[in-house]
Order: sequence, then structure tokens, then C-alpha cells
Amino acid sequence: MTADVIVIGAGIVGAACADALTQGGLRVVVIEPSLAVSGATGAGMGHLLILDENEAEFSITRYSRDRWNQMAMEMPSSLEYERCGTIWIAAVPEELPLLKQRCAFLQSRQVRAEILDSQQLAEAEPNLRPGLPGGLFIPDDAILYPPAAAGWLLKRAEQRGAAVLTGKRVTHIQAWGVELEDGSRLEAHHVVCATGMWTPQLIGGLPIQPRKGHLVITDRYPGFVRHAVMELGYLKSAHGRESESVAFNVQPRKTGQVLIGSSRQFGVTDARPESRIISSMVQRAIDFMPRIAQLSALRAWTGFRAATPDRLPMVGPVANRPNCLLCAGHEGIGITTCLASAGLVSAFILGDRPPLDPKPYAVERF
Ligand SMILES: Cc1cc2nc3c(=O)[nH]c(=O)nc-3n(C[C@H](O)[C@H](O)[C@H](O)COP(=O)(O)OP(=O)(O)OC[C@H]3O[C@@H](n4cnc5c(N)ncnc54)[C@H](O)[C@@H]3O)c2cc1C
Repeated sequence: MTADVIVIGAGIVGAACADALTQGGLRVVVIEPSLAVSGATGAGMGHLLILDENEAEFSITRYSRDRWNQMAMEMPSSLEYERCGTIWIAAVPEELPLLKQRCAFLQSRQVRAEILDSQQLAEAEPNLRPGLPGGLFIPDDAILYPPAAAGWLLKRAEQRGAAVLTGKRVTHIQAWGVELEDGSRLEAHHVVCATGMWTPQLIGGLPIQPRKGHLVITDRYPGFVRHAVMELGYLKSAHGRESESVAFNVQPRKTGQVLIGSSRQFGVTDARPESRIISSMVQRAIDFMPRIAQLSALRAWTGFRAATPDRLPMVGPVANRPNCLLCAGHEGIGITTCLASAGLVSAFILGDRPPLDPKPYAVERF
């Protein structure tokens, strides 16, 4: 045997799996055709947040966000981790009851959350347009720089003996291990498939679809935005199945840059940035923060989220694929949720108690 476990894909999900599995004392080989951050991980925003549309989404985001916060003391400064909190904005008074409902739900689950009135909101984020009705503040949400976070998790795994093979692509998964593009074979007791939106190429018949996203980053304007700030309507964009949507979502970066998102598109596979989408996304941001119009944008890019029909990842054994575990389909929250998914994978392989109920994320639910 080459290893106890082969992890296919070195995005943040594969990196988190390698980290968790080596913590469990297993010999791990990670295989990646390109760079560790060539997929969605290199394109993501790095918001570590709790979402609460349903119990399964709440459980996986809550567990993972809290794990990231617990790991903060160990992180090198290159991860640019900051517990800046999230402010969800009500654009119109009719959205206030929903914010209050979410606040009550979070508080009932011992998550720190508070409602900001119009004045408190303006004081918290002075660049928001005046007169917005209010916000929901979740102080323990955080941000980090995803490429550095993935690199750090991978390095921790390597320090515990994992081998990371870059420049190698897996072509087939077998019960005994994997076959590579160059015709060679690697054997292992278990294979973890963490290949994001490319997963259907290795395991047919899975309902994972690419969902394109655009982001824009500005020059440095320290203090321009202090929290991760999102409109409540972001949830409609993220949870809906519309072919195209944009929502106001901005983040401060430690560098003083402002990261502006976000868009969602189904049915597009061309990775080139589209000026039409960027314009509508930036216009949405200007509607909420008018002074964004005066900032200089440096760069725009795109990435593809691996979307499942219910927006939850697929984690666990795969029918008719002995010794293979799937860990993919993290859509727009994989930077946050990779830690819970990795915990589930490691519990499956080691036979340990899972960190959360695995059922809502089981592959066979489709
Ligand atoms: C615009 C945008 C904004 C986002 N913002 C956030 C956010 O704020 N917070 C958050 O939590 N999440 C966010 N996300 C989601 C997050 O980025 C993803 O869920 C996460 O990066 C998925 O990680 P992954 O490792 O599964 O996939 P990827 O990073 O795509 O990694 C998959 C890897 O598998 C490799 N691979 C593919 N095929 C093979 C093969 N045959 N053999 C070997 N290796 C292979 C690829 O090269 C790749 O490196 C965002 C995503 C986008 C696009």
C-alpha cells in the first residue's frame, strides 16, 4: 500500500481532509494536477460565517465557524484571519421582521447576535447609505485569506508525514486506489474524492453543477468597511435556483483592500469575467455604499462553486464504490465548512464518533 488514504484534490477541502486524517495518525497522499489553490479555493472570498436557512446548514456552518475561531491562535499571520463579524442589512423596513426572526433563532442556539437599529448601523458602517432600516450583527463570524488557509492546512499535514504530489491527475478511482494520467497506480485502503466541481468527471451520475461567481478587489482604503457586510437578499441569491443573480456582499481585507461580491450563474462554463455581470454587481454595491463609486478597482476574477441541489455538501461513502468517500459540493461556503466535512471524513475512516450528524450530507440522499 502506498498510503492509508489517498486524497484527490488539494483545494481547501482536500487540504482540511489531509490535516484531519494525519491528526488521526494515518499515512496520507494528496494528489493535485495543478496548484493547491487553482480551483474555487483560489477564487473564494474567505468569509467564515453561520448560515441558518435550515438545521443542516446551521449545524455545519456553526461547527466549522467555531472550529476556525478555536484555531485562530495557531494560525500564522499570512492567513489574515480577523474576527470582524458579519452585518446583514435590511434594505427595506419589510425585511426587519426576518432579521429579528434570524436573530432570535441564533440567540436561542447560543450564537451571539444582535439587532442594530438604523443609527447603530450607520455608526457601525459609516459608508452605508443613510436611512437603511437596520441590521443583524453576528460578532463571531470572521474572514481569512483562503489560499493561505489551504496552504497552511496542507503544510500541517505534510509535517505529520503526508505526501503532496502535484502535477498528477487521477483518471480512475478503484477499490484498491487510483490510476493516474501517466498510467501509474497508487494503492491505498481508502480514497477521498475532494475534487470540487470536477467530481462528476471521476464519479458519474452526481448532481454537482458549476455555479460561476465574480469578485472585484479595490486598491487599499483602510477602514472603508469594517465588517463583512451583506444584504439580506444575498440569501435569496445564494439559496435560489435562478440562472443569474447578484447581491451586495463586501469584505474588508487586512491589506485595506475592499473585496466586492458577489454573483451566481448556472449554465456558464466560460471562466472569463463578464463586464455585464461585474457592472450589475458593482452597481448593487454602490446602491448600498455610494462611496464605492469613488474607489479604484484593481482586478476582477471568477470562480466556480460546486453546487448541489440543496446547497449542502456530499460527504461520505459512495454506493458501488468500495473504499471511496466523497467530500465535494460545498457551493459558496466551502472555506467555512471544510472543517466539518473533514471531521466527518476522518470519523468515517477511523470509526470515530462524527463531530455532527452525517445524515443530511450523505451522498445517497440524491
Ligand atoms: C466567488 C466565490 C466566492 C466564495 N466565497 C466564499 C466565502 O466567502 N466563504 C466560504 O466559506 N466559501 C466561499 N466560496 C466557496 C469556496 O471557495 C468553495 O466551496 C471551496 O473553495 C471548495 O473547495 P474544494 O477544495 O472543494 O474545491 P477546489 O478548491 O475547486 O479544489 C478542487 C481541487 O481538485 C483538483 N482536481 C480536480 N480534478 C482532479 C483530478 N482528476 N485529480 C486530482 N485532482 C483534481 C483541482 O485541481 C482542485 O485543486 C466562494 C466561492 C466562489 C467561487
